[in-house]
Amino acid sequence: MSTRTPALFLGHGSPLNAIEDNEFSLAWIEAAAALPRPKAILCISAHWETDGVMVTAMEKPRTIHDFYGFPRPLYAVRYPATGSPELAETVRRLVPAAGIRPDHQWGLDHGTWSVLSRMYPEAEVPVVQLSLDRDRSMSSHYELGGQLAALREQGVLVVGSGNIVHNLGLADLSASGGYDWAVAFDEAAAGWIRAGDHEPLVRYQDFGRPALLAVNSAEHYKPLLYILAMQQPGEPVRFFADRLMAGSLSMRCVQVG
Ligand code: ZN
Repeated sequence: MSTRTPALFLGHGSPLNAIEDNEFSLAWIEAAAALPRPKAILCISAHWETDGVMVTAMEKPRTIHDFYGFPRPLYAVRYPATGSPELAETVRRLVPAAGIRPDHQWGLDHGTWSVLSRMYPEAEVPVVQLSLDRDRSMSSHYELGGQLAALREQGVLVVGSGNIVHNLGLADLSASGGYDWAVAFDEAAAGWIRAGDHEPLVRYQDFGRPALLAVNSAEHYKPLLYILAMQQPGEPVRFFADRLMAGSLSMRCVQVG
C-alpha cells in the first residue's frame, strides 16, 4: 500500500469562497474528505512572493486578510491552525542548495486559509507556507517542486493555491464562462497535465498570446508547477473542478496521486 500523500493544486478564485458554499468550496471539501488525514500541510500560495525562498517557521501563524473591498464577515475569519517549526526545518534541510530561509513575520495569507478553512475547518492540521521566489525561472520553480516531493512520503499534504488562468485586469464579473483565449489555454494545460507532459507548461510562453494573457503576472500559475513536479512515474492525476468564470479565471483543481 502506498504511503504517499496526494498533492493538490487548488484554483482558489475569490476570497469569498472561504465563506460561501458553492461548487468550488464544496469540491475542496470533498477532495479533503477523501484524503488520508495529513500530519501537516505545506502550502505554496500565489499571494506570498519574496526575494529568495522563505518558509514560515512560527508556532502560531496569524491569519492575513490580504484583500480589499470585501464584505465584513470575511475579515472576521480567523484560521487558527498552528505552524510547524519542525516541518519548516525539514523543508530547509531537504533542499540545502535552495537556501530556504525561516520566516517569522508572514503567517497564513488568503491563498492558504480561504481553501484550508473549508477543507480542514477544525484547523487541527499544522500549516506551513512556502514562498514564491520572484526571481526564479519557471523551470527553477518546477525543479524546486520536484526536490520537495519527498515530503509526500512523510504524511505531508502539499497544496499549491493559485489559478491556471488568472487575469484580473481583464475579468468581467458578469461573464459566465471564459474568453476564447482563456478556454484555449486552460484546455491545453489540462491536456498536458493529463498526459504528464510538463515541459510545455514550464515553457507556457511558447503557446503564444492565449498563454501570455492567461498566465499574466504568473504568481497564480507558479504553484501549479510545484504540484506537477511532485508527480511520480505512473501516478494518476485527476481534475475535481474545471470551470472558467469571469472571462479570465480558471477554477481548475488538480490532484496528483
Ligand atoms: Zn489569488
